[in-house]
Amino acid sequence: MPRPIEALVHLDAIAQNFAAVRERARGRKIWAVVKANAYGHGLERVLRALDAADGLALLDLAEAARARAAGWRKPIVLLEGVFQPADLDEVVRLRLTVTVHEPRQLEWLAHARPASPIDVYLKANTGMNRLGFAGEAGQRALQALQALPQVRVAAVAMHFANADAPADYTGAARAEQQWQRFTQTFSDWRGERSVSNSAALFLRDDIKDHWVRPGIALYGGTPVTGTPACAFGLRAAMTLRSRLIAAQSVAVGQGVGYGSRWVARRPTRVGIVACGYADGYPRHAPDGTPVLVAGRRVPIAGRVSMDMLTVDLTEAPHAEVGSPVELWGARLPIDSVAEASGTVGYELMCALAPRVPVRVLDATDKEEGDAHG
Ligand SMILES: *Cc1c(COP(=O)(O)O)cnc(C)c1O
Repeated sequence: MPRPIEALVHLDAIAQNFAAVRERARGRKIWAVVKANAYGHGLERVLRALDAADGLALLDLAEAARARAAGWRKPIVLLEGVFQPADLDEVVRLRLTVTVHEPRQLEWLAHARPASPIDVYLKANTGMNRLGFAGEAGQRALQALQALPQVRVAAVAMHFANADAPADYTGAARAEQQWQRFTQTFSDWRGERSVSNSAALFLRDDIKDHWVRPGIALYGGTPVTGTPACAFGLRAAMTLRSRLIAAQSVAVGQGVGYGSRWVARRPTRVGIVACGYADGYPRHAPDGTPVLVAGRRVPIAGRVSMDMLTVDLTEAPHAEVGSPVELWGARLPIDSVAEASGTVGYELMCALAPRVPVRVLDATDKEEGDAHG
């Protein structure tokens, strides 16, 4: 028998989240962001639930090739563009849209002689200060691209640094400033714009773009730190679950796990879960991080190790060896685990380790997935 750990990918949740996104987008087209192997869910797996998307957004030529091999015929945009001139041959062969964020990429396009024009996304740096042309350089890059017959400028794009900021926080002012800079830089541009990530899509009504780029919302993570995903009508697409494989009675003063980080202050029953950092669980999860054992929320007690983690079973007296454990999923939001661990749901999803077996559930499998018999 394999270790009891497994991840479930709920395609019905992804389809439902996509529908929520479609409704929020109010007629705008949707790039489903599937970078990083669909935020850890598996690119080929999620495509089945995203067939209504207008395009896929990702980073890797290899992932683009996988999407084409899986039968995806609609547009695919490379969010960071190409990394060397030779990549443009693949771009043509796979019919990709490329982001241009840097003068070198513009140079490579100027020397390319594709059989048909390459679709380009021009990326502006409006305050994130990661990728893109800032200020007037954006305007000049646009003119340079428009002068190239081998290029078709499909849209101008930007990315928010603070789209998830509540209205009373200075981050909101920064987001506003980014949007203003963007509209000023491209005030003469009459073509399409692509701006909104999940947070901007769900929080802002004033962004006039044509293509939105939601990622985290599709997978049921919250787009807005501090607000549960369910408040936006989003459902967890990933469940990570396992079982108790042992239990220990720990006497007062005894420690649990490496470094004896957790020490019993009263006689305590501790459960051992078959899930560790080699499965993708965050090693830095502190004592108190919630874990669902036999339907009860119990706290982590002791340092997460490679293959196991330990929980205080005081609040789950009925739990026994073999009891089901949910690390995150429908009943224990991944964002709660992330918050306790000082990270975001994004990182936890993406870190799901290859050694964890994944089961894909369609709507009809829902009962089986939930029962964890
Ligand atoms: C990852 C990414 C997104 C998606 O962001 P979410 O917060 O997951 O919605 C959108 N646009 C760009 C450029 C990205 O890199």
